Amino acid sequence: MEEFLKQLPKLAKDKHKENKTFFTKLKKKAPKNLDYIMQDLHAEEFERTDCLTCANCCKTTGPLFTDKDVDRIAKHFKQKPQQFIANYLRVDEDNDYVLQSVPCTFLGADNYCSIYDVRPKACREFPHTDRKKFQQISNLTIKNVAICPAAFNIVEEMKRRIKL
Ligand code: SF4
Ligand code: SF4
Repeated sequence: MEEFLKQLPKLAKDKHKENKTFFTKLKKKAPKNLDYIMQDLHAEEFERTDCLTCANCCKTTGPLFTDKDVDRIAKHFKQKPQQFIANYLRVDEDNDYVLQSVPCTFLGADNYCSIYDVRPKACREFPHTDRKKFQQISNLTIKNVAICPAAFNIVEEMKRRIKL
């Protein structure tokens, strides 16, 4: 995994143009069963990929925190939401709450998340490869393949299986 993570930014860069073209076509004529295809690809990939050997999303990019996330996690720490925000979060250029710094402060040296049961929705859903109407988040996915080895593999398999 370590070696793959080292190579990933270059691999993603090399595939960037091809991925752009693929997703532009996919947006225009997505197969009717795309949701099912994505569920299969996602499940197959995460049977092979163990996030505990990676944690690259937690190390290099942080999640957005919704108000619900803030309330839930603050409660977990027995803090007021404002106190939790002051301790850990900042407002980014899109006016969203994000981590003050990465790697995520809740990530352990063993790659376990110390707030796993109450973690943000964005962490639970990353890399979003099993979401419905996957073609609608193509720009985000093109970015994520440079961070997430599973997303990279899933997009490569998509291109093999879906002929456009
Ligand atoms: S979701 Fe992707 S980047 Fe995050 S730990 Fe799993 S494989 Fe790594
Ligand atoms: S909250 Fe947990 S899952 Fe989310 S980025 Fe931090 S360590 Fe990773």
